[in-house]
Amino acid sequence: MNPAPAPQAVPASGDLSNAEILQWQGKFRCVFVLLVGFGTIALKWTGVLHSDSVVARSMGAHPALLVGAGLIAVYLIFVQLMLALLARRGTAGQDAVILAVVADMALLFGAAYVVTPPSEYSRCLIIAIFPVQFTQLYFGQRATLYNLACVTVFFAVAVLAAANHGMMPDVAERFWDLSLFMVGTLLFVLLQGHIANRLRRIVQVFEKAQEGDFSLEYDETADKMPDAITVVGRAYNRMRGHLETIVLTDPLSGCFNRRGFDQLATREVSRAMRGSHPMSVLALDVDHFKRINDEYGHLTGDEVLREMGLLLRETARLGDVVARYGGEEFEILAPDTAQEGAQILADRIQHAFRTRGFKAVGVERAITISIGIASDIARNDQIAQVLIARADEALYVAKRNGRDRTEIWHPGMRAFDGSLPGRRSIELNALRLDER
Ligand code: GH3
Ligand code: MG
Ligand code: MG
Repeated sequence: MNPAPAPQAVPASGDLSNAEILQWQGKFRCVFVLLVGFGTIALKWTGVLHSDSVVARSMGAHPALLVGAGLIAVYLIFVQLMLALLARRGTAGQDAVILAVVADMALLFGAAYVVTPPSEYSRCLIIAIFPVQFTQLYFGQRATLYNLACVTVFFAVAVLAAANHGMMPDVAERFWDLSLFMVGTLLFVLLQGHIANRLRRIVQVFEKAQEGDFSLEYDETADKMPDAITVVGRAYNRMRGHLETIVLTDPLSGCFNRRGFDQLATREVSRAMRGSHPMSVLALDVDHFKRINDEYGHLTGDEVLREMGLLLRETARLGDVVARYGGEEFEILAPDTAQEGAQILADRIQHAFRTRGFKAVGVERAITISIGIASDIARNDQIAQVLIARADEALYVAKRNGRDRTEIWHPGMRAFDGSLPGRRSIELNALRLDER
């Protein structure tokens, strides 16, 4: 398996909290209600607007306006209390959101009942479009449905109460207005919900990519009505392969880097576990590579590593994961491969090293490689780490036994006995794969 033929992840922004949104909306609520509410009352008080409301008909125009002003004052006190509570608590649940929405609608239709004539209740439906839209945008579908339920109930109560006072001759017309409002806003809510879901999907794709996992693609076929989000999804899909290459590949050798290897190993392990398949890991380390650097310089050493990466990828099977794990150390994960198969692969690699040579140093200059092999059945998700550690141990046995050779790990093998200072010593025999 070769890495696809080119950055740094960007941190995801956290979700906005209900409290944060309710706090900034609180200020708008106050300003809007002060302007529109008291503006209407002033126009009525001065007689610029003079048609009677239900309440004005029964108690007089000015007392009705005072009731309206009282309603607005109660609402403003409610908003201030809510803001103070939010500032102290710093959090707000769905209950707080729904309470705010109910208060908005109660004020809108309550004030309409107190100060406007019944024939104009439908204006409130037009005004209600804005709070409904805000609720959908900032708090989602559930709060919006509560908002619509409030509109329906409060509007219906106001219309029926006005009819009861003999001031609403065309009840059916008003309910038709309500029906049109409902159809329009429900369509809007559904569309917004659909957009929100797709935005969530694209965020998931980005979050995966941020972890260095580019396996998720934005599914543009699910977009029945392509729009700007589809365009962003398509742009991501176009650069996915490019990003994957940059993040998961070692630029020098063209093989996977450690991150790429670990990611593909995880994928291969879960696949192998499903069928209890065998898998092998080959740990490879170039013999006396320091001498190459000393003889030809680091740049030539790098060139050799580049050629080596190509050689290993060409020699391994298509499904094998070839990675440069450290300086001149490579790792190959061979899925569905038992010990015999891994040995054949190791022989093929060593044969290629002996016969092909490396152009950077002249093909006649012998460069050899030592290989450690570990194989087992994938019984648990620790298999890759265990096999890497075992193959590492076998590799050092190969080094100790003269280099340019392959050693196969077996229980009881002990490479790290203190004679190789600085090497990681792992009690591999204690790692039992069948325990988990
Ligand atoms: P041996 O493995 O056989 O014990 O001997 P070695 O000389 O290869 O020793 P070791 O594997 O411990 O050291 C690796 C050397 O590889 C050290 C460094 O000079 C060289 N090396 C590591 N990374 C790079 C690299 O990216 N480019 C080049 N040019 N050289 C590297
Ligand atoms: Mg070496
Ligand atoms: Mg080394």
